[in-house]
Amino acid sequence: MSSNKELMQRRSNAIPRGVGQIHPIFAARAENSRVWDVEGREYLDFAGGIAVLNTGHLHPEVVSAVEEQLKKLSHTCFQVLAYEPYLELCETLNQKVPGDFPKKTLLVTTGSEAVENAVKIARAATKRNGTIAFTGAYHGRTHYTLSLTGKVNPYSAGMGLMPGHVYRALYPCALHGISDDDAIASIHRIFKNDAAPEDIAAIVIEPVQGEGGFYAASPAFMQRLRDLCDEHGIMLIADEVQSGAGRTGTFFAMEQMGVAADITTFAKSIAGGFPLAGVTGRADVMDAIAPGGLGGTYAGSPIACAAALAVMKVFEQEDLLGKANKLGNTLREGLLAIAEKHSEIGDVRGLGAMIAIELFEDGDHNKPNAALTAQIVARARDKGLILLSCGPYYNVLRILVPLTVEEAQLQQGLAIIAECFDEAKQ
Ligand code: PMP
Repeated sequence: MSSNKELMQRRSNAIPRGVGQIHPIFAARAENSRVWDVEGREYLDFAGGIAVLNTGHLHPEVVSAVEEQLKKLSHTCFQVLAYEPYLELCETLNQKVPGDFPKKTLLVTTGSEAVENAVKIARAATKRNGTIAFTGAYHGRTHYTLSLTGKVNPYSAGMGLMPGHVYRALYPCALHGISDDDAIASIHRIFKNDAAPEDIAAIVIEPVQGEGGFYAASPAFMQRLRDLCDEHGIMLIADEVQSGAGRTGTFFAMEQMGVAADITTFAKSIAGGFPLAGVTGRADVMDAIAPGGLGGTYAGSPIACAAALAVMKVFEQEDLLGKANKLGNTLREGLLAIAEKHSEIGDVRGLGAMIAIELFEDGDHNKPNAALTAQIVARARDKGLILLSCGPYYNVLRILVPLTVEEAQLQQGLAIIAECFDEAKQ
C-alpha cells in the first residue's frame, strides 16, 4: 500500500507545481459524502470536488446510467455521428434554464470552455468585441477566461497580459462597502472612460460568486443589469458553473433573481462527477455562429450526458431542491451558533445550500484572517473533515457538501468545525 507521503513525493517529481493541491491526500474511493484515502482513513467531504458533487460521490442512479451507456457506445464525436442522450439533455436544459423564450443548448467539457463559448456566441450575435466582467470573478483558466477572472495571483501571474477588450466592473458586496449603486456606477464609468456601450458584446456575471467568496448579487441589482443590457443591446451572460445544478435551492440561481440572462453557462454538478459543461441561450443568439464554429472532440460525451440525465432524475426523485433549502437552513443555523461564540466569524451568508463564513481579525471587516482560515482547514482535515477556502483574501470557508448528505454526517461536520474554532484559540 502506498502512503500519502510517498505519493505526494512522486507527485512533486512528476507533476508541475502549478497544479496546486489543497489537502496532501490521495483518495482511493468514495461514497456519497465520504471519501477514503490510500491509507484507509475516512473523511467527510464538505468540498464536493469543488461544487461537482451535489448528488454525492457515485450516486447509484448515476453509476447505473453510466454503466448502461458504456454497454452501448462511449464516443462517436457528436459532430460526426450524433446520439440521443446529447439531444435529450439539451431539450431538458432548454426547459430548465430560466427565460420565457425559445432556447438552444450547446454541450462542451469544462466550465472554462462553456464561458469561452458563451462570449464567442455573444460576440457573433452582437458583432461587438468588448466584455465586462466583475471584481472577484472566476470564470476559468483558459487564456480568455483568465482575462475575465478577477484574480491575478495565482491564476495568471507570470504569464504576461491576457487577451484584451475585457473591462472590470465592481461586484456589489455590501459587506465590503460596494453598494448596488457603486457597482452600476462602475459600469457607467467603463462606458465613459474605456469602451462605448455599443462596443460591448456581453456582461458576464456569477449570480453568486464562487471562488470570489460566495457573495450573492441582489435581484434588484440583476434587474438593473438586465435593464442596462437591454438599453444597449448587450448580452447578459450568467455564469452558473458553480451556483447552478441545484446548489442554491433552485436549479439555477437566476431563478431567484427575477430576470433571465440571454446566455447561461453550466458545468460541475450538472453531471454528478463526469466532465460536462454547456451553454444555453436565446435560440436566435445561439444560432449566430455558423456550422462548424462550435463543438469539440469530446464535447457532450455520451457517458457524461447519460450521467447528467440521471442527475436530473435524482433531483426529481429525491426532491434535492427541497433538500438544498433544508440543508442551507441547517448549515446557516449551525454556523451562526459557532459565530456567536467566535467573533472572528464576521459573516455567515449564502443562498440555499451555497453557504460560507468569512473570517476577520477581531471581527474587523477590513482585516481578512487568512491565517485562521488556513488553520481551520488543516485542523478539520486532521479530524476527518475536508473543507475548502475561497475569496480574494483566502478568508472565506465555503461549504459544498453533497445535497444528499445524511443528517448525522452533516451534524458531525458542523461539530468538527465548532471544535476547530474552539481549539484554534487555545
Ligand atoms: N466559472 C465558474 C463560476 C467556476 O466556478 C469555474 C470553476 N471553479 C469555472 C467557470 C471554470 O470551470 P472549469 O474548472 O470546469 O473549467
